Amino acid sequence: MAIRIYNSLTKKKEDFVPLEEKVVRMYTCGVTVYDQCHIGHGRSLYIFDVIRRYLQFRGYDVHFIRNITDIDDKIINRAQELQKSWETVVQENIDAYKRDLKALRIDEADVEPRATENIESIQRDITGLIAKGYAYEVDGDVYFRVRQFKRYGQLSGQSIEKMLEAVRIEPDAKKADPLDFALWKKSKENEPGWPSPWGTGRPGWHIECSCMSLKHLQCRTLDIHAGGRDLIFPHHENEIAQAEPLTGKPFAQYWIHHGLLTINGQKMAKSLGNFITIQEALKTYRVDALKMFFLASHYASAIDFSDERMKEASKAVEKISILLKRVEPFSKTKSESKLWEDPSLALPAWREKFSEAMDDDFNTPKALACLFDFVSETHRFIDTHQRDRAYHHTITAAGKLIEQWCHEIFGLLGDDASDKPSEEQERLLQERQEARRNKDFRRSDELRDLLREKGCIVEDTKEGQSWRRG
Ligand SMILES: [Zn+2]
Repeated sequence: MAIRIYNSLTKKKEDFVPLEEKVVRMYTCGVTVYDQCHIGHGRSLYIFDVIRRYLQFRGYDVHFIRNITDIDDKIINRAQELQKSWETVVQENIDAYKRDLKALRIDEADVEPRATENIESIQRDITGLIAKGYAYEVDGDVYFRVRQFKRYGQLSGQSIEKMLEAVRIEPDAKKADPLDFALWKKSKENEPGWPSPWGTGRPGWHIECSCMSLKHLQCRTLDIHAGGRDLIFPHHENEIAQAEPLTGKPFAQYWIHHGLLTINGQKMAKSLGNFITIQEALKTYRVDALKMFFLASHYASAIDFSDERMKEASKAVEKISILLKRVEPFSKTKSESKLWEDPSLALPAWREKFSEAMDDDFNTPKALACLFDFVSETHRFIDTHQRDRAYHHTITAAGKLIEQWCHEIFGLLGDDASDKPSEEQERLLQERQEARRNKDFRRSDELRDLLREKGCIVEDTKEGQSWRRG
């Protein structure tokens, strides 16, 4: 069965057919490095990592590019604010970004192109657009002539007239039309700049992405272009407008957009004081809990971050760990034939159910529901099938299947030290489990308080105790 993807361009769920058999060329809009990454970036980075992993799992050779915008008005403004050079601001934030990716255990892209390393190619594209009548230079700036591109608005589904109403008419008399956007910006004094046929300046944001995606994926049409929903207009609309006149081909076959993230129902903003960086979130919650929270909603939905939701996510992660711990001893016994699995746990059917969910537009909540049903079924099998011929082997195979889903596709249950309790916490957790088993609730409560002092919040669930940072 084919993977089906909701394509923002056609506004339909469609069978996924890449242009080259078994090869996927995928580009995602990366970060602008003027500040640290927040958990909204975390969602974007993670969810596209999961999609990449799933496509690989389904046998595709995925060429994956994620850019870094390292020159932008925001970077220049931040450098002025901090009285640092723009290069320092960029380097500090790239270092922080790489640290975040590592902490989240998200794979590097095949290429992570930076705008400033692709200036020549960007200039070549701009020159091409001027030559074809799609762009014009005015006093060191170059603008894209929006009305020249007849399909403008196809992605965001807006008419030019509607857009014109929405666009604030800037007092910029240089533009021939208020809808036109900058491809090249002339540098002011003391601003970074690169020599160009139009004088010293820097590229606009939109041209970076259309240029670097096609260049580094070495194609004229991408299979998948991905990004946040907030980028559809104008960023992605502009990317299409820039790319298609140059290549004469559709820019991307499938457009995937993730929904946005709010915090306790509010938009995240520095001014509201609810801005949570990835590093801050990981001081309170485990990496796997954060990932579980992202997976619990479909990538296209808006999600709301709250302590409550994070607690649920922590418990969900713990459910998987509890089962895997229970399964572990069975894998150490070699008593049965490896060729025969007990049909009462029907592993192939579970495998199929999971793939069906993921094939349906990467429906992670549906896939998780399948995973947790399978966790319960495996507990039940362990409790009730002791007499079965392939008892040990079936349990081991079930554990391996859960591990495969968690590791290979969701990037969960990594062996990152920060995701495990410390030795002391582990000892106290075990002692508490023992106390509860002996119904020594006073001791178990004492240990819970002690663990809290040591930064470990314990909760009791049906399957046993779970813990999270606190
Ligand atoms: Zn972009």
